[in-house]
Amino acid sequence: MPEPRVGVFVCHCGTNIAGTVDVEQVCRLAGSLPDVVHAATAKYTCSESGQKQIQQAVAEYGLNRVVVAACSPRMHEPTFKACLEQCGLNPSLLEMVNIREGCSWVHLREPAKATAKAWDLVRMAVAKARLLEPLTERRFPIKQAAMVVGGGIAGIQAALDIADTGRKVYLVEQGPCLGGIMAQLNKTYPTMDCAI
Ligand code: SF4
Repeated sequence: MPEPRVGVFVCHCGTNIAGTVDVEQVCRLAGSLPDVVHAATAKYTCSESGQKQIQQAVAEYGLNRVVVAACSPRMHEPTFKACLEQCGLNPSLLEMVNIREGCSWVHLREPAKATAKAWDLVRMAVAKARLLEPLTERRFPIKQAAMVVGGGIAGIQAALDIADTGRKVYLVEQGPCLGGIMAQLNKTYPTMDCAI
């Protein structure tokens, strides 16, 4: 893997982030981090123009790692992975930082703290991005079977639920009988019946 060339993209999300976090300052500081060769902000990074900005920077600056500081990865990680893939970069070379839900939204009235936290998160993300390696997908045949370890009530129920899906289940219990703690109770609330 060649030397890391990291690009950092800090999103305004309109005013969602930029209304609290000093996005320009975070971007400026990010540009001074080791191996960061390009840092930029965008109004809406997930928009078509925002993604194009990333792809152009990958080509222009020879980026081989990308950090996007924006919203939760749950929301747009697939978007940015696809964006990287389209410009020939392995999607695993993306690192996302959540500076919206994790910073601007939870520290709405504390802009200085929100900015400091965003900066910390970006620094950590860049440090991680510098060590990222490309991952490749491999497919293996799998056996449609499961093993449940522990034949207590939870184990028995889990085994039954899996079996209901049509899969073979191996239920493994170290003791001589099933039932676990439940099998040792002579009464259970509310019926006060024997547990078994
Ligand atoms: S990438 Fe996330 S934070 Fe940025 S504009 Fe899109 S939704 Fe907002």
